[in-house]
Amino acid sequence: MVRFTVLASGSKGNSTVVSGGQTRILVDAGLSCRELFRRMKLADEDPATLDAIIVTHEHQDHINGLGATARKLGIPVYFTEATHRAWMRWLTPRKQMTYAQWLEQCRQQAAALQAEAAPVQACDCEDPEADEGVNVVGSETAASDQEKPESAKSKASKLEEPKPDPTWLPAVEYFQAGRPFTIGDIAVSPFTIPHDASDPVGFVFQAEGVRMAVATDLGYIPPNVKAQLKGVDLMLLESNHDLEMLRDGPYPWQVKQRVLSRVGHLSNDATAQFLESSYDGQAAYVILGHLSESNNLPELARVSAERALCGRASLLANRLLLAGQHEPLSPILF
Ligand SMILES: [Zn+2]
Ligand SMILES: [Zn+2]
Repeated sequence: MVRFTVLASGSKGNSTVVSGGQTRILVDAGLSCRELFRRMKLADEDPATLDAIIVTHEHQDHINGLGATARKLGIPVYFTEATHRAWMRWLTPRKQMTYAQWLEQCRQQAAALQAEAAPVQACDCEDPEADEGVNVVGSETAASDQEKPESAKSKASKLEEPKPDPTWLPAVEYFQAGRPFTIGDIAVSPFTIPHDASDPVGFVFQAEGVRMAVATDLGYIPPNVKAQLKGVDLMLLESNHDLEMLRDGPYPWQVKQRVLSRVGHLSNDATAQFLESSYDGQAAYVILGHLSESNNLPELARVSAERALCGRASLLANRLLLAGQHEPLSPILF
């Protein structure tokens, strides 16, 4: 049986379970492990049967519970190498400081180590350069943005009591966009999407002859994505914001520019335009996802997509669904 269950979709967390044959894959782990398990239970999905987690990109709303969930279940995580590195940088952020502050931190650490009669070792300070890791703009803010430089004392006590490595995973598997591979009974085709992350991807999953696409977090729909969305039976497609609500809404100017940019998020209009002019009408289910809670209303997204589909009589059989942020969507079965 093939099954597609959206557990959460939006800037506060994204996660979907894709099942086919004997294999179950969690696509992104944007909620805490506890919340993911709670939602899986609500949707009648058993966390213990998950075989792998696969990650689209390193923004916090896609990886928030990743490490904890993978470790709890003892399952591998599939990343691109660049996304894996960005995830590790997010977990172990470098501090932003001036060169003078960096030198002072080195001096204080050396003094603290000497005072406690610890063996003197080379300075293990972080590189003073700005953190280039996770993009921290807007609602997908990474925790690294909030960090303050630690005091020498707390650094010294960390040296004495090392904490478990937060980047440790039971297993890591790398894939590359454009190179299909399989996880158990599910064939996975990862494709590049235009978004402001290290190496963001969407996926087409195929199992038992059913093709399911996940395409959220993209600034526009380039030809390679249009090609991937042909002939799918189900697509989870972004319909992030209403242009007027975004323009008049509460976000700072820079964040509005980022969302609107070619590496931001798809507007209701952009999604409608795709459905009207490029979509082949093959999907039994079109799920609108990653709706902004600040700059969109479910009804606006729905009406916009419905108009686009209803303009094409042959597409009336398509079922249009909206994935929400706060509760799972009923599982879709094939
Ligand atoms: Zn996102
Ligand atoms: Zn993103």
